[in-house]
Amino acid sequence: RAKTQRGGGAQFYNTQMTDEAINRIEAEANVRQALRRNELVLFFQPQFEVGSRRVTGVEALLRWVHPGRGIVPPVQLIPIAEEIGLMPLVGDWVLETACKQAVAWDKLGYAPIRMSVNVSVSQLHAGNLVDRVKWILKTTGLPPSRLELEITESGLMQNVAESTLVLEQLKALGLFIAIDDFGTGYSSLSYLSRLPIDRLKIDQSFIARMVSDKHDREIVQAVLSLAHVLELDVIAEGVETEEQLSFLKANGCPQAQGYLMSRPLAAEKLAAFFDKRPQPLEG
Ligand code: C2E
Ligand code: MG
Ligand code: MG
Ligand code: MG
Repeated sequence: RAKTQRGGGAQFYNTQMTDEAINRIEAEANVRQALRRNELVLFFQPQFEVGSRRVTGVEALLRWVHPGRGIVPPVQLIPIAEEIGLMPLVGDWVLETACKQAVAWDKLGYAPIRMSVNVSVSQLHAGNLVDRVKWILKTTGLPPSRLELEITESGLMQNVAESTLVLEQLKALGLFIAIDDFGTGYSSLSYLSRLPIDRLKIDQSFIARMVSDKHDREIVQAVLSLAHVLELDVIAEGVETEEQLSFLKANGCPQAQGYLMSRPLAAEKLAAFFDKRPQPLEG
């Protein structure tokens, strides 16, 4: 009897392992299918001036519209794509689609906004990012000054020497570089002052807690001072309340992004946030 029980246990264990393996294989196949079946879409979230609330840019955020599961967030897609080596391909699609969208809005007569695109470490180190970006800018016709690439602080710090080389080449194309999730990635200040970057994005965890927590409030103030000293632009992520916005304004944070203004939305829904380009007077 005891023997049967042990056997049952082992069988259960094996079944579990098999399920895991099957889940993995399915997950991989799904990511490939998502690409092939055009199930990936970009949502866009406005970035705005704290003082005027004028929208100056948007961040492109990846979504997977799964036939059965609805909208799948990037945390459930990107790590798998990274693991199976598909992230450069997905990232390439994101870059091209985002640049095309910016040009499409231009053609509809909206005042030009900047397009921010997230770039993962694997893309940064894939060896062909600079050429890909150059090609995408050329074929879509988006001026380089209208594109910003966001790289997480933690990603950047994984290999500072190589990252710096790639960033310098990207900067030479005339685009902008932002450090995403700033404050969570242990940058050394000496690196930070030498990296060819334009903007810091204050991580949303500090913004979420700053109104109630003195420590987080001081971190936000410290990042704002740091940006000032390093002559970098700065934007607060994850701004959800008027109270947070007021604090940012009082402390000289020029730009913000978050649910307070808008959640990330499908492209068609974004136009309401843009100014129309002034038309030359007729006659
Ligand atoms: P991230 O680049 O820091 O993007 C900000 C995340 O915060 C987004 O989550 C956005 O939807 C969310 N968010 C914006 N405002 C608020 C707010 O007021 N409150 C709260 N609680 N959340 C807010 P999302 O879209 O799920 O993306 C998560 C992360 O996935 C991104 O963080 C980025 O690191 C990564 N990601 C998304 N799209 C791409 C992509 O195309 N390529 C790469 N490499 N990574 C991407
Ligand atoms: Mg980002
Ligand atoms: Mg972020
Ligand atoms: Mg994040």
